[in-house]
Amino acid sequence: NLGNRFQDIFKKIRGHGRLNEANIKDALREVKMSLLEADVNYKVVKDFTNKISEKAIGTEVIRGVNPAQQFIKLVNDELVELLGGTSSKLTKGLRNPTIIMLAGLQGTGKTTFAAKLAKFLKKQNEKLLLVGVDVYRPAAIKQLQVLGQQIGVDVYSEENTKDVVGIATRAIEKAKEINATYMIVDTAGRLHIDETLMEELKELKRAIKPQEILLVVDAMIGQDAVNLAESFNNALSVDGVILTKLDGDTRGGAALSIKAVVGKPIKFIGVGEKLNDIEIFHPDRLVSRILGMGDVVSLVEKAQEVIDENEAKSLEEKIKSQKFDLNDFLKQLQTIKRLGSLGGILKLIPGMPKIDDLAPAEKEMKKVEAIIQSMTKEERKKPDILKANRKIRIAKGSGTDVSDVNKLLKQFDQMKSMMKMFSSGKMPNMGTMGKG
Ligand code: GDP
Ligand code: MG
Repeated sequence: NLGNRFQDIFKKIRGHGRLNEANIKDALREVKMSLLEADVNYKVVKDFTNKISEKAIGTEVIRGVNPAQQFIKLVNDELVELLGGTSSKLTKGLRNPTIIMLAGLQGTGKTTFAAKLAKFLKKQNEKLLLVGVDVYRPAAIKQLQVLGQQIGVDVYSEENTKDVVGIATRAIEKAKEINATYMIVDTAGRLHIDETLMEELKELKRAIKPQEILLVVDAMIGQDAVNLAESFNNALSVDGVILTKLDGDTRGGAALSIKAVVGKPIKFIGVGEKLNDIEIFHPDRLVSRILGMGDVVSLVEKAQEVIDENEAKSLEEKIKSQKFDLNDFLKQLQTIKRLGSLGGILKLIPGMPKIDDLAPAEKEMKKVEAIIQSMTKEERKKPDILKANRKIRIAKGSGTDVSDVNKLLKQFDQMKSMMKMFSSGKMPNMGTMGKG
């Protein structure tokens, strides 16, 4: 399976003390093969390996770990990203009941999942109503009733009618009557996608306006899972995907492709026939299960943390002793660059107002970087020695004007005096603040 394949690849790569373009290429070829064999969509695999190759070749090696370990971490992070990064929660409606509608082919595990989810939510003190609208197979309704009884949840269904919309609408009334906070609608499936099924589901959606339409997909069907998810999503615009039967000998490829191709998150997984066999989907946990490399990943993370801590400490020291010079300033700029675009970083900061156009700021950063890079180490340490002819040389070297160089030096001066103020605890006008 995919896990074993990856472990072989990593074992091989750990044998190399150093990574170079050649052995990264070899490893990537094998990563590609294993993903394809695991039924991951071809385009997804291609994008994935391209991304890794780009990053692997551009990355600096972190002290304290070897390049192979860092490569494993890179594959790990990209796989997590491919799966949507974080886990996604169910929506809760403003009014009760929140309606969750399940869709999917027959035999994928809809009815089982309806009961699993009901049990899961009941444990969180929610009040549930299960609704059966599989009017074509009386056995299906019976199955839901039996499951409902097992978990102590009411089941709403009607006999002698095939009016799916009518049943579901009356079920909402029933849900309100019993003060249900969630109502889970288990729909009929077919053995294959057909117009009648889709029309019925669309009509149901229009009538009951569910907060969540969850597509239930059997993980064992491999490549087809993606096509299936696409057709359902085109017709219904689903909110999330449930992957069932991940406990069996599935190759996991479906999970890896769905988010990338359909753009909808996997919200829960089914890992067995029992009603407790439901898990919130955590991309990092699945990846850890696939790669079996959790130890290496956390090792690299710790090494990275130590480095960041050391850097932050030495920076703090420098600010305190007022030894912060243009060399340090350049390092800071490069750290920001390493972390990604300025826009990307700002997005990570909670409460940050949205700035529409960051291009000027990023351009300015590049300019500043070019200017500092055109200085000698000595000049960066003691900007005071920069007189006219040196400034002209620097401006030429960085493709800027002397006025740009002057502007940067002035800004740096201001920054230094601000740092001096902060580190000495003397803040301007602070004494009068807060006093009436
Ligand atoms: P539906 O036709 O979509 O409603 O599917 P059912 O809920 O009736 O399930 C079909 C079969 O799949 C049943 O035998 C279930 O026990 C089984 N099943 C459902 N979910 C899982 C799962 O996560 N793992 C395994 N191994 N079997 C499952
Ligand atoms: Mg069913």
